[in-house]
Amino acid sequence: MLVFAIVLPTLSLLWFMSRVIANERLVVGQKLAALYQDKLAEANELTESHFTNYLANLDTNLISANAYPLLRQLVLQEHAAGLVIWDAAGAIIYPQSSVISSDDAAIGTPLAEAWQLEFSTAQTAQAAARYAEIAATSPSPQVVLQARMGRSRCLARLGQLDSAITECSRAAFAQPPDNLDFQAALRWRLTADNARLLLLSLIARTQNPGNTTLLPRTLDALHTDLFNAPPQQLPLPANQNLFIARKVLDALRRQSPASADSPRADELNKLITAESLSLVAADTQPSAAGQTDVFFETTVDHQSFIGLRHKTRSQTVLVLLPKSGLESALTGYRDTFARSEVAYRITGPAGEYIGGQPDLKGKPFLTAILPASFPGWKADLYFTGSDVFEQTARRQIAVYLWTGALVILLIFIAGGLAIRAVGRQIRLNQMKNDFIATVSHELKTPLASMRVLVDTLLEGRVRNEAQAQEYLRLTVKENERLSRMIDNFLTFSRMERHKVAFNLAATRPGALVHDALESVHTKFNSNRCTLTVSVAENLPDIRADHDAMVTVLVNLLDNACKYTTENKQITLKVFLRENQVAFAVADNGIGLARRHHRKIFERFYQVDNSLARHTEGCGLGLSIVKFIVDAHRGRISVDSVPGEGSTFTVLLPVAGNDID
Ligand code: ADP
Repeated sequence: MLVFAIVLPTLSLLWFMSRVIANERLVVGQKLAALYQDKLAEANELTESHFTNYLANLDTNLISANAYPLLRQLVLQEHAAGLVIWDAAGAIIYPQSSVISSDDAAIGTPLAEAWQLEFSTAQTAQAAARYAEIAATSPSPQVVLQARMGRSRCLARLGQLDSAITECSRAAFAQPPDNLDFQAALRWRLTADNARLLLLSLIARTQNPGNTTLLPRTLDALHTDLFNAPPQQLPLPANQNLFIARKVLDALRRQSPASADSPRADELNKLITAESLSLVAADTQPSAAGQTDVFFETTVDHQSFIGLRHKTRSQTVLVLLPKSGLESALTGYRDTFARSEVAYRITGPAGEYIGGQPDLKGKPFLTAILPASFPGWKADLYFTGSDVFEQTARRQIAVYLWTGALVILLIFIAGGLAIRAVGRQIRLNQMKNDFIATVSHELKTPLASMRVLVDTLLEGRVRNEAQAQEYLRLTVKENERLSRMIDNFLTFSRMERHKVAFNLAATRPGALVHDALESVHTKFNSNRCTLTVSVAENLPDIRADHDAMVTVLVNLLDNACKYTTENKQITLKVFLRENQVAFAVADNGIGLARRHHRKIFERFYQVDNSLARHTEGCGLGLSIVKFIVDAHRGRISVDSVPGEGSTFTVLLPVAGNDID
């Protein structure tokens, strides 16, 4: 039953644990998925708010007249590939490729005459003189600018390079007059930029180190004018702008190989590419078709891009982004999952890669849809490094296993204790049964002998008076034996019911010995026991119940006689040991094996408990002795060798030493 009670819960626990462990990976997966679901929501929120800021930035920058600062910002900071801006009516604002009309050199004007001399008749010196005259006299600053450029060209051709450069730089860095109209302002800027380009080519032809400051100054002026011009300045038409930008890039490359790789050259290159693409997009992309404020796929110049069309009250803007350059739109994801054990990959509607880590293997543990501005896009989450699922699950499983092992251990301990308790109870029962058998046997034996003796006397079957006396004496002896036995039972019974009250008082050890000897005297004589008694002198009094302690000594002496077969030599020694009075009863009897040493003090315990044994008794004597000694706060010990004899020693505290 008990084994069943241990095995059944253990098996159930093991089964339960195996189920829990099997489910643990699933549970951990769900827990982590729930955790990262929140993180994904956070990433989406950040992405959305970044996108809102992006649109707000477009709104702010679209108000200005010049699209170049916006193009520059989008290309250099947001990785845009191109830009188109339409007005409310659908007409293109940027990139415009208009041709600037000019009537400065109309037939009959002084400038036309000078051109004639310079280009048709190749009278360079005369042309130079004519240009100088126009520059000095013309009321139009625009014409003066053109005349200076013409003179510079002629001087260069005449070999006067330094004078040509001086003349050209006057044109290149001339202050624009105030109050120019739209067309005139554009014409002025274009002419000035052309003068700067001419200056670049002239500088390239000289080896004059004096020009080291002029060259960067010219390049700076051009560069600023191209993409870096203040927003309120009118933008150059895109084709002109591109032409100048390419020339500047060439000049930079020519200047030195180092400046070809400089950030400025790199920037210029990007802007040139973006502007070229913008020109193609302006021709091919519709102004109003499609949704606004959502990313969509589009093709420009045979390349795929992600487009974003945004509308303000007066303008519509189209930003083109390369597919792989959407990092800035996805900073929400980058920031949320930076330094985490999770990597993400963002794919477009057709499953094409857009952002995050491109080479993630296996199955994602979580997939999320991006905000509405990214239609059809999704983000897949993967665990990086060693499998976090597995690690977390393993940690949890270890906790379960340890707990399970502990519970099983506790079940076994509790079971073991229960088995021991039940075993003890079974043994006690067994002992009680044996006891009843022994008691009946022990009681019957003296009764039967008395019956025989009395019957013999009654029937007068005695030879003489002496025999009659002998029979009566035997009857008395059997009677005494019966009484002693019943006394023992009664003492034991009182002990069992805790009904014994000891009368502890200062007692002389010698007095105890005297009374005990008197009690066993007859028995020892009839059993031919030789008893040697030695009581040390000047022993202190002990605190004891006189009668109870006499019972202790009588029982020990009785046993010593009982368990000694022939040549019974018994000694009783009383002496002082460790400030206690010791009573040692020694015999040369059958002795006791070590395993019985403790058990003999238990109730009903007998080394030989067969009914056929020769000695009387029912296994109560020593348990009574121990009970009394304990009540006196004393100790009893046995020292015995089988076949050689035993010594039982009782130690009792001295009267004055008592604590209470
Ligand atoms: P019993 O009535 O059987 O003598 P006790 O409680 O007095 O019961 O003793 C318990 C058992 O201890 C005895 O049955 C006996 O086997 C053993 N025993 C007691 N005293 C001695 C002794 N002096 N020498 C050997 N065995 C002893």
